[in-house]
Amino acid sequence: MILKPTTGNADLRQIAAETWGRPLASSSLASLWRCPCCDRNTHSIMMVAAEQFRCLGQCRIRGALLELETLIAAAAEHMSVDNLVEIGA
Ligand SMILES: [Zn+2]
Repeated sequence: MILKPTTGNADLRQIAAETWGRPLASSSLASLWRCPCCDRNTHSIMMVAAEQFRCLGQCRIRGALLELETLIAAAAEHMSVDNLVEIGA
């Protein structure tokens, strides 16, 4: 039996749920969480689909698996994620 690397076909929604808990809302295509990068007072929403995510609010952060993992790691270490905002610019 060959084990696939976790980055192979990971569903970003699965990772998000393990990190941020239950989504605020879900459809078959995407789930919604509060954006971890935006100011809490803005109540910005992050939309997460199987292979990509995007902030619908202020910070406009977006990306795929690598960016999501970087974002989570950065948040865990209370680091700035300002550098990630440029990805979708
Ligand atoms: Zn945001």
